[in-house]
Order: sequence, then structure tokens, then C-alpha cells
Amino acid sequence: MATMEKLSNYIDGKLTPPVSGHYLDNIEPAAGTAYSQLPDSDEQDVALAVAAATRAAPAWAATPIEKRSALLHRIADLIEQRLEELARAESIDNGKPIALARTVDIPRAAANFRYFASAIINFTSQAYVTPDKGLNYTLHQPVGVAGCISPWNLPLYLFTWKIAPALAAGNAVVAKPSEVTPMTAFLLSKICIEAGLPAGVLNIVHGLGNKVGEAIVVHPDVPAISFTGGTATGQRIAAKAAPMFKKLSLELGGKNPNIIFADADLDEALATTLRSSFANQGQICLCGSRIYVQQEVYDKFMDAFVAKVRKMQVGDPLEETTKTGAVVSEAHMHKILDYIRLAQEEGGTIVAGGERVVPEGRCRNGYFVQPTIITGLDIGCRTNQEEIFGPVVTVQPFATEKEALALANGTGYGLSATVWTSNLQRAHRVAAALQAGIVWINCWLVRDLRTPFGGMKQSGVGREGGMHALEFFTETKNVCVKV
Ligand code: NAD
Repeated sequence: MATMEKLSNYIDGKLTPPVSGHYLDNIEPAAGTAYSQLPDSDEQDVALAVAAATRAAPAWAATPIEKRSALLHRIADLIEQRLEELARAESIDNGKPIALARTVDIPRAAANFRYFASAIINFTSQAYVTPDKGLNYTLHQPVGVAGCISPWNLPLYLFTWKIAPALAAGNAVVAKPSEVTPMTAFLLSKICIEAGLPAGVLNIVHGLGNKVGEAIVVHPDVPAISFTGGTATGQRIAAKAAPMFKKLSLELGGKNPNIIFADADLDEALATTLRSSFANQGQICLCGSRIYVQQEVYDKFMDAFVAKVRKMQVGDPLEETTKTGAVVSEAHMHKILDYIRLAQEEGGTIVAGGERVVPEGRCRNGYFVQPTIITGLDIGCRTNQEEIFGPVVTVQPFATEKEALALANGTGYGLSATVWTSNLQRAHRVAAALQAGIVWINCWLVRDLRTPFGGMKQSGVGREGGMHALEFFTETKNVCVKV
């Protein structure tokens, strides 16, 4: 058998093997086989990375903003030049359709660098003049070494969403991508070398969460941790980091409602709901997994929705025409199928999908699940309370706006919500009453990178995006001068 490619860590500007010499298999979910290996790093590699970052941080912080900005633009250029290579790598690593990686994931990774390359130039301080007493002004200073930990669902997109603002703000970074999808982070390390990023400014350590992730979280020389992932992991990180008084940004799970009022444009609601339910196999934290439809239009909506979902083809993510690919791993596929069984035990009816898919050819051992619609479950059941994070939605009718709000707000999560209505007053009223960090009215996943991003309740603490991210990655100092 040919030897598999071994990925490397990126420490102190160099591609570096793990100190232990141990590797983990990297599985292609659509094929169900290992196709490369990633470092099974541990606290020794993290220690080297933090030491390199600590050495590099002062010079990087002192580098003129224009030069930092130019380097980040250069990284964005290289990501754009490598679009095809990166999109293919992301599709193989994650199981997502290559067309989605090409049009969403990789362009957004470049946009993250571009956006923060210019945002840092526009990052201002404030001045407050107290007549005859003092002049106060704020100084935003880098925290030093920032820790960035990201999940597998939008691998390069979310990894760079953290790294770019941390670097732009003048920090050195120790970053850990998900062990489930390490490939594009590895390619990013090569891009950073080619771009001429100074050694130690960005360090990427691959491996498991409880070894590498935790070592970053508890390292005394990493004062800020930006984490995106599951709520249970976020809890564990918060418990470790809080006694050390670290700055923490936690972007966690969701169980997002999608409310369709009878006065909505049903054609648009239907077309977008197909995407918001099943894009990336439902593995986007912002997917709407609980759909509430007002009684008057419930049957009409359901007839069309069920018919379209039953026709959705699941297949090889590397095929250009594929819209629904593989779920990310065997364990995740079983988790999703277990939830579908649980939904039936709880009294739910599967009206579309519900089964594993076994395609022919090279994907016959891959991890595929049919897009699935479940009805007949009330809000209190586990299926409606717990994050499934797969191509599974529940649908339920409602009578009044008050009932819709009670259902929508009836879980422990509060990441995003979508509302479909043509009534302007209702749109604003419902948006204000929803317990969610992001509310979309008559649209979904429309993002302006300047806006705050984050969740309420168990969906997280802190806001990313725009100047919020730059504020997170800096200490704000108040200087007062007597006048
Ligand atoms: P996860 O929590 O299992 O892992 C996320 C990252 O944390 C990985 O890199 C993992 O290795 C690392 N990790 C695991 N245990 C750790 C520990 N003890 N200490 C430090 N790091 C640790 O999440 P996942 O399964 O990779 O991703 C899916 C989850 O992410 C879903 O819950 C989804 O909703 C959430 N998510 C949230 C957002 C958001 O912006 N709110 C965006 C995308 C995904």
C-alpha cells in the first residue's frame, strides 16, 4: 500500500512533525477510508508553539498596521489563487459538496483575511475631554498570544474567522483546527510560509481536543481563548479558563427556529427553507432545525416541502452537480441515525428520509444520511431540545404569534432564528422578542462581516465579527492626562 501523506504542525515558521512521532488517520467521509494522517500532538507541541508565539509577539505588535494589513491581504490573494485546490481538499476532508466549498467556504476564508486587513486600519480609539480636569483616551493593545480553536463543519471558514482578527490586532496566535478536518488548515500553513508571515506569528497545532485543545486553554501564557464548537466542550473550556481569568469568546451550538407566518411569500420561504434546513447536510450552526408553520398554510407548505425533500439526491461530494454530500464522520452519522430513531420512539412521524444512504461506486462505504423531515413532536421532547447537527428537521403547526414565540424560545439554545412574514410591524416585534443572537427576516445566512455574531443562552458568550472581534483580541486601556 502506498504510504499516506503525513500532515505537519506549523510551529515557529516551519512545518514540524509532532514531538511524540504519533499520527492519527484522517478519514475521507464520502469514501469511508483513511487518506492521510495528521499529527497526534500533545502538550509538548503546544509548549513549543506558545514559546514561538511568545517570542514573535512583540515584533509583530510593533509592526506597522499597514504592513500587517498588507501581509493579511497577501494571504487572502494566495487563498484566492488556490481556490480549486482548497475547495477540493475541503470537500474530501469534510464530505461537503465541492460546489459549496468553492462558492462559500474558501471565498469566505479569503474574505475573512481581507476584511480584517482593512478593519484594523479603521480600528479607532476614543478620546474624552473633561474640561479643566483631564483628557482620557483609550489604547487598544494586543493581548500577546491568542488561542483559537475551531470545529469541523466550516473548516477553513471558521478557522480563519478567528485567526484573521487575532493577527490583524497584533497578536501572535496558537491555533487548533478540528482533528476531523485538518487538511485546509495544513494548506494554510504552507500559504503563510509563502506569504512571508514572520516565524512564530501564526502556529498551527493539529490533534485531539482533550490533548491539544486543552493544553492551549490551560497554558498560562495564552491569555485569550476564542472557541467555536459544541456547548458541552464550551462548558469544559469555560470551567478551565475562568479560574485563570482568561478572556473567553465561546461560539456554541444551536437549535434554531424557522417561523413561517401565513402572510409570508411561501415560494421564497420554501426555497430558502430547503437551504436553511439541509445546506452542508444540516451541519451549519445556523441551520434552522425546528420549523414552525402557521396553521392556515401548513398543509400547502408541507405538501411542497416534503415533495422537494424526497427528491433531493445525496451523492459523491466531488461530483459538480451534487448538492447534498456526506456527513462528516461515521460516529456523527450514527449519532444522527440514533436521533431519528429517538424521534420515532418519542412519537414522531418520519415524512421524508430517515435512512442511511449507500451510494454505488467509490462512495459505497461513505457516511450518507437522507434529508429527513419529522412531524408530530412537541417542544418538550429531546428531538426538539437537543442539537442533532445533521440533515434532520422537525415541523410543527402553530396558531398565533404568541404560540410561535413560545415554541421558538422554548429551548436552552439561542443562536439564530428566521422569520417569514410580509407584515412589517410583526417582523420587528418578533425579532425583538426572539431569544437569539441573530434574527433573519425573509432571508437566511446573509452576513455582513461588520455585524456582531454570536449567541444567547447556551449558544455562547461574546460576539465575533467586525470591531467586536478586534476588541476581543485587544486589551483596552484608559489613559488619563491632567489638563
Ligand atoms: P467540538 O466541541 O467537539 O470541537 C470543536 C473544537 O474543540 C475541535 O477543534 C476539538 O478538537 C476541540 N476540543 C474538543 N474538546 C476540547 C477540550 N476539552 N478543550 C479544548 N478544545 C477541545 O465541536 P465539533 O463537533 O467540532 O463542531 C460542531 C459543533 O460546533 C456544533 O455544536 C455546532 O453547533 C458548533 N458550531 C458553532 C458555531 C457558532 O458560531 N456558534 C459555528 C460552527 C459550529
